[in-house]
Amino acid sequence: MARIVQKFGGTSVADIDRIKAVALRVKSEVDKGHQVAVVVSAMAGVTNQLVDYVDSISTLYDAREYDVVVSTGEQVTSGLLALALQDLGIGARSWLGWQIPVRTDDSHGKARIEDIPSADLIARLETGEVVVVPGFQGIAPDNRVTTLGRGGSDTSAVALAAALKADRCDIYTDVDGVYTTDPRIVAKARKLDKITYEEMLEMASVGAKVLQTRSVEVAMKQGVRVEVRSSFSDARGTLVVDEDEIVEQELVSGIAYSRDEAKITLVKVADRPGVAAGIFGPLADANINVDMIVQNVSDDGARTDVTFTVAERDLEHAVATIEKERGEIGYERLMSDKNVVKVSVIGVGMRSHAGVAKRMFSTLAEKGINIQVISTSEIKVSVLIAEEYTELALRALHTAYGLDAD
Ligand code: ASP
Ligand code: MG
Repeated sequence: MARIVQKFGGTSVADIDRIKAVALRVKSEVDKGHQVAVVVSAMAGVTNQLVDYVDSISTLYDAREYDVVVSTGEQVTSGLLALALQDLGIGARSWLGWQIPVRTDDSHGKARIEDIPSADLIARLETGEVVVVPGFQGIAPDNRVTTLGRGGSDTSAVALAAALKADRCDIYTDVDGVYTTDPRIVAKARKLDKITYEEMLEMASVGAKVLQTRSVEVAMKQGVRVEVRSSFSDARGTLVVDEDEIVEQELVSGIAYSRDEAKITLVKVADRPGVAAGIFGPLADANINVDMIVQNVSDDGARTDVTFTVAERDLEHAVATIEKERGEIGYERLMSDKNVVKVSVIGVGMRSHAGVAKRMFSTLAEKGINIQVISTSEIKVSVLIAEEYTELALRALHTAYGLDAD
């Protein structure tokens, strides 16, 4: 007998028939004698609709009320799934975020889970009852409803699995696992049987959308075994595990890309101490995340160019923030470009092997693709290139690292 958390994403609960199909999947685990807690997302599209409602009333909304509105999608699906299970003769009860309670901090709209008391839920599981939990919801220290940020149901599921000391956390979604790269672009992409937490974290943070980044952080920290799998087939998915569980580690496990990037270049900035702080300080104060940064050596010792990237949706805000500081920073010209994509090769294998970056650069060079900015971490090399080369770059790199399916 095992204790399992199953999480079903929006497409898996998109309509009544699919919710009934989810109930059957839950039943099949119950019939094997397992204890099952289920976390559900809102029906596909519902959260977007709720966000639109909020936006259409006020653009500078009160985040507390935003949470009151957008948390409701999950409440609907948790009640419906409990009913569908009862209809199959299975004892089931929904537990809303405030009832458990899923305690979070007070950052409304992007709250972090702090604690999930588990004794009551475990007592229910031990009687054979299925516990149904709406993902995405929590409750702040002052008892107001919070939500965990878009995609946050993944984090609800993993945190619940940790709190319940579950044997596994199965994340059911509309893809059948984690791929070496986006299969819609590279036909030879392969499904990975296993991937390490660290790699999954990098993949998620640079654009692979299968799991919310935060959920991978929680899984890694708490050692939760996560399997990403499809709710539309019975095939095994991808296990996200510790590095020592992977016997034959590839040099590069995956190639991710993000189109949500924009580049800003400040031309002829004074080359003196304090300039970087003068640029990036105000951006940080404005809550704008800066990702890649390059600063050139100045040829005259007096002026230099600084290039950096921000999320595309933050571009206007970033440009306005910099222009306000123009007097302080002292640059000649500001250029911005949305027509860029960040491509990243990821693999824990590169910690112990040289040459990964070199292969990336030479592969792109052979295709005549110019690299605009480079950044690296211990297990990742990222480059910024013009967006029109996305497909070409992904395919060429996928082949160059030996990832193509036969
Ligand atoms: N329904 C929420 C969203 O779409 C949370 C989730 O599904 O993970 O972001
Ligand atoms: Mg999701």
